[in-house]
Amino acid sequence: MIIVFLTCAGVQVWAEDVSDLKRALDKQGKYHITITVKAVEQQTSVPITVVTGSKPGPTLLILAGIHGSEYAPILASQKFGRALNPDALMGSVIIVHVANLPAYMGRTVYISPADGLNLNRLFPGDGQGSLSQRIAHLITSEIFPLADAVLDVHSGDGNEDLRPYWTGYYAKVGDADLVRRSKALAFAFGFQHVVPFQWELSDVADAIWAGSAAVALGIPAIDVEAGGMGVVEEAAVSMLVEGFQRSLSNLGMISDQFSPPNNQRIIYDRRSVKSPQDGSWVSLKAAGELVTAGELLGYVTDWHGQTVFEARAPNDGLLMLRLSAPPVLKGETLVVVAKTRSKI
Ligand SMILES: [Zn+2]
Repeated sequence: MIIVFLTCAGVQVWAEDVSDLKRALDKQGKYHITITVKAVEQQTSVPITVVTGSKPGPTLLILAGIHGSEYAPILASQKFGRALNPDALMGSVIIVHVANLPAYMGRTVYISPADGLNLNRLFPGDGQGSLSQRIAHLITSEIFPLADAVLDVHSGDGNEDLRPYWTGYYAKVGDADLVRRSKALAFAFGFQHVVPFQWELSDVADAIWAGSAAVALGIPAIDVEAGGMGVVEEAAVSMLVEGFQRSLSNLGMISDQFSPPNNQRIIYDRRSVKSPQDGSWVSLKAAGELVTAGELLGYVTDWHGQTVFEARAPNDGLLMLRLSAPPVLKGETLVVVAKTRSKI
């Protein structure tokens, strides 16, 4: 199907080809673009809004919905796209509202119902692979190269309780300038807690995660985590929308100035406890609580309700993530405990 691509300042238009993404960066306006991704006997679409400002500037990519049951990022991206005014913008914002539409519409956590794969474990993707692998490939090969900075926005998944909300950057991928720019974005987003990821990576072929694929390509990128448990928490949506605005300010794309929070903290020494078998998880603590080493955080039972594993805090610290729903598979993370310290 051919859709005429009209580029009039301030006019919303619809298009469906990846080449339209590039064209939308050339002229002021707000564009709704839906890109079709086809695999063998399967297809999906990726809904994208591009807002191009009246003056030149960088291109920011906001990536939401890599996990389909992470609702706060998806709704924040839609709210932000509606409100963003091209007249006040220098450069362009590409907003991928729902990268993983099969998982969103299928209401699955972690994986896509199309192929049983976790999109955020497949980067850089495969243009000849399954539907999820092709979505990852589209993002890596066609969308990342258009961006000067990337926000990969997540929450706790539909079965995950996550507190506090945080941003993360790759502290050991790329040269010093790339790390500095990613770090600046992570703090500028405005959340109180920031995680410097310690993973190392030299080749995009080994990326795994979307954010790491972006930095492996030399593009400053951060991960953002706000919301969770399959609910739309208005406070999380608002924090994300403000973070998007703060990111535009950090990149010099709007004239508004924001002062960073003065009490930002570093999260470090993250340790997880995984389930040794399939079963039912009974959680005893909420995310965000301080716990002490050895403290019982929950337990796993077999199908008959007999306790088969006790999950105890691996160290003193903050319980920053826990499974909030009972079903658990062998090897899945039950809890994550981490330490925090002042930024300075
Ligand atoms: Zn996620």
